[in-house]
Amino acid sequence: MSAVRKFRAPGRVNLIGEHTDYNGGFVFPAALDRATTVCAAQRPDRKVLVRSLQYPGTVEFDLDHIVRQGDWADYVRGVALQLELAGYRLQGANLEIDGDVPLGAGLSSSAALEVSTALALSSLAGHRIPRQELALLCQRAESEFVGLRCGIMDQYIACFAQEGKALVIDCRSLESRAVALPPQLCLMICNTMVRHELTGSEYNRRREDCEAAASYFGVPALRDIDLKNFERYSGGLEDRIRRRCRHVVTENARVLAAEKSLAAGDAQEFGRLMVESHASLRDDFEVSCPELDLMVELALECQGVYGARMTGGGFGGCTVNLVEAHQAAAIRERIAQQYRQRTAIQPEIYLCLPSAGCHEVLA
Ligand code: ADP
Ligand code: MG
Repeated sequence: MSAVRKFRAPGRVNLIGEHTDYNGGFVFPAALDRATTVCAAQRPDRKVLVRSLQYPGTVEFDLDHIVRQGDWADYVRGVALQLELAGYRLQGANLEIDGDVPLGAGLSSSAALEVSTALALSSLAGHRIPRQELALLCQRAESEFVGLRCGIMDQYIACFAQEGKALVIDCRSLESRAVALPPQLCLMICNTMVRHELTGSEYNRRREDCEAAASYFGVPALRDIDLKNFERYSGGLEDRIRRRCRHVVTENARVLAAEKSLAAGDAQEFGRLMVESHASLRDDFEVSCPELDLMVELALECQGVYGARMTGGGFGGCTVNLVEAHQAAAIRERIAQQYRQRTAIQPEIYLCLPSAGCHEVLA
């Protein structure tokens, strides 16, 4: 038996900058102190045996014959395939996956799984892959193999996150800047526990709307339109596309303003930008839902909450809240109780300390 090694990659929450990544724009995520771990042992052959403590059964596949099956293990197969296609020859492995990132809640359990698996498989085979390449390979696994078009944010933050900090990422240049979260503040994530059916189809439709707007302006991506140009030249767009475009343009500007305010320790201003972001996602981009709107509204009624907004793709999932750390417990109680009363749904609420990106866990 070869030694078992353990690898870890975190989930994430996006503080601001939603639906901007695939427009070449800016996002501002932090890694969660919730993660996926992969315990991995080398095999002498080219087989991968993988099980997840979150699902029953064991899955087996051959590295020389990787085929999509439509189950959770496609994330593992896709990562293995992309690594091999990039020239990183792998060895067979036994993998045991476990994690505490809620699945399908918009906190990116999928990227946590991809990145931890990619790090495990490549490390076992003796490869050291630059972090940026690792992120891009994992994104390709999700968009090309699993078949969900996604931006680069989730995989990037899972690779590059720093403890205690959030990361402003330029999704075009792939440069990033870390900004510390002041210690008196914390991030609170409220899970509505709903996920409306629309998610996949509407996501692709939003991407198409954004592409239509970019081609109207004659630019490669909406990242290239600023507010001034939007106001001057957007008159010829049909109303829906114009509103989609306005969200992206204003959201990119909000991320950069939010970076400044966080760096200056101005929680009030950061919170105001979060609230604006939510309104823009609700009214212009139309990706919120009644449960997310309610969760935001309830949070904003609480003392010690600076800002609240939906986070992730929308149509359910979670909100992110910037709160005063010493009031967090009371805020959490109050929001949970009110949400339960109004919807008959028991929400899950997580307090999050920004944590580090993927790494091998040394015993
Ligand atoms: P999110 O990334 O917001 O959690 P996704 O739909 O993108 O939601 O990814 C969730 C999917 O990723 C799950 O349905 C499952 O297929 C896969 N997945 C994530 N974490 C695990 C895990 N620990 N074990 C097995 N599959 C997982
Ligand atoms: Mg995902």
